[in-house]
Amino acid sequence: MTGIKGFIKGGAKGPTVALLGELDALINREHPQADSITGAAHACGHFAQIAWLIGGAIGLNRVAEKLCGNIALLAVPAEEFISMDFREGLRESGTIRYFGGKQEFIRLNLFDDIDIALMNHAHTDKPVRSTQIIEGYNGFIGKSITFTGRASHAGASPHRGINALNMFHVALSAINAQRETFKDTDAARVHFIITKGGDSVNVVPEEVKIEMFVRANSIKAINGLSGKVDNALKAGALGIGGSVEIKNIPGYMPLVPDDDLYNIWKQNAGRILGNKNIITIPAITASTDMGDVSHIIPAIEPSTGGFAGGMHSKDFRVTDEEMAYIIPAKLYAMTVIDLLKNNGNQAYGIIKGYKKKLTKNRYLKTLDSMFRTEKFSASDLSSTLL
Ligand SMILES: [Zn+2]
Ligand SMILES: [Zn+2]
Repeated sequence: MTGIKGFIKGGAKGPTVALLGELDALINREHPQADSITGAAHACGHFAQIAWLIGGAIGLNRVAEKLCGNIALLAVPAEEFISMDFREGLRESGTIRYFGGKQEFIRLNLFDDIDIALMNHAHTDKPVRSTQIIEGYNGFIGKSITFTGRASHAGASPHRGINALNMFHVALSAINAQRETFKDTDAARVHFIITKGGDSVNVVPEEVKIEMFVRANSIKAINGLSGKVDNALKAGALGIGGSVEIKNIPGYMPLVPDDDLYNIWKQNAGRILGNKNIITIPAITASTDMGDVSHIIPAIEPSTGGFAGGMHSKDFRVTDEEMAYIIPAKLYAMTVIDLLKNNGNQAYGIIKGYKKKLTKNRYLKTLDSMFRTEKFSASDLSSTLL
């Protein structure tokens, strides 16, 4: 349970602009800097985000007197939507209600006094000294799935067992068969890990656990795909004669960036990096809880270089320290200064032009409605003999 929020007060009244940095890491056991016990490694560059947050704050602290409005500094945990079992435990104990850090910040009223939110992210697949203007991110729904069968001796008496791993095997065939119905325009992604595949090789697997994401670029598409995946999971349980429990967990909203805020970022990036190093790319299929923030206030999440290797991979590393740590901090500070100088004119313009997708209450209700646990058992099903 980490996370912190602070303020730098401006010299006069005006809007509040938040700079965000993410605190969390991933499990990448093969990463050379992975923690030897937990396997946690900073393979998504979030360590650099904290440098930008602190660097931006140091710069802004010197000029805040001349600004009209405040700067909020948010270091936020749990952007990577992982360890779902652990987070389910925290939810059941009442410690958290949602699995994402920014979702929890919204619930805990920490965004109530913020008018505009800005954060940046690392990238590795474009020129090192560049910024990417990312036109959107996918959203997703998370699924925590348990297939239950019956254990028996895998060699001597498999006929007495009901194989939960085979249930998932059948379910996966059905999901893969459905992929031909996925529309390219929805940018669908369905992917999973098996967190429990059985207990012993000589015992027919009784319990199999899966974590899965169903991603797409609109809530409507996510819900449609999620229903198809649920049918496929039930087909697995039915085909082998066992049962499945599907816990649907609200993931993140698609990110809809604010173009006017992006324009200020681009102007400043042009000054430092040159206009030819501002690369606009269409929406990407990854997801972030900055998407949730973008549904209630104007927000952007561009990316910058200074890194190499693959995101979330063992070879992710810093290759250009000035670019990785210093330049984005300057871009944070310069963008906030532009927003809050001249009576906060540009910030007020962005707030006025913003089309709110959801009120905070509506947003929280939407998330709550997405928690849905469904149980399906082959034995529940009766058919009619004609
Ligand atoms: Zn990541
Ligand atoms: Zn990340």
